Amino acid sequence: MAYVIAEPCVDVKDTACVAVCPVDCIYDFDGENMLYIQPEECIDCDACRPECPVEAIFPLAEVPAQWQSYIAINAEAFERHSVEAAAGDESDEAAAPAATGGGAAASSAETEAVKQVLVDVQAKTLTPEAGLDLLIPLLEKCGVTITDG
Ligand code: SF4
Ligand code: SF4
Repeated sequence: MAYVIAEPCVDVKDTACVAVCPVDCIYDFDGENMLYIQPEECIDCDACRPECPVEAIFPLAEVPAQWQSYIAINAEAFERHSVEAAAGDESDEAAAPAATGGGAAASSAETEAVKQVLVDVQAKTLTPEAGLDLLIPLLEKCGVTITDG
């Protein structure tokens, strides 16, 4: 599952969501009129949704019927931009995080996100419970299986 940005973001792009995403999976590509969530990097933490002033962000299962096409639109943006990157289009203003996607980039992003959660818990800007909620899906993406008990 992943979160999806839909039509209300078009031409708004205030990037409020970017600041709170713990895994930096919301991308602001140069030349695009909205932001996109990388579906393989999103850990479904829900941090971004309340930040959006125009309610453009939805969990996959809750994308309204009229905006279902944005599920593919988000995913396709990354195909488009990774093709451009491979073709040597390296715009400085493309995405804040590396826009290449793929296993190596994702796992390094996840490692950084794990570190960030630990730092936040240590700094008490995140409760241990909230930290754990963020860490479990992150560690699972890193191949660590978490079992209850
Ligand atoms: S749900 Fe969490 S991980 Fe996914 S885009 Fe929003 S803030 Fe980022
Ligand atoms: S907070 Fe909402 S409107 Fe702003 S960039 Fe993110 S999705 Fe778009």
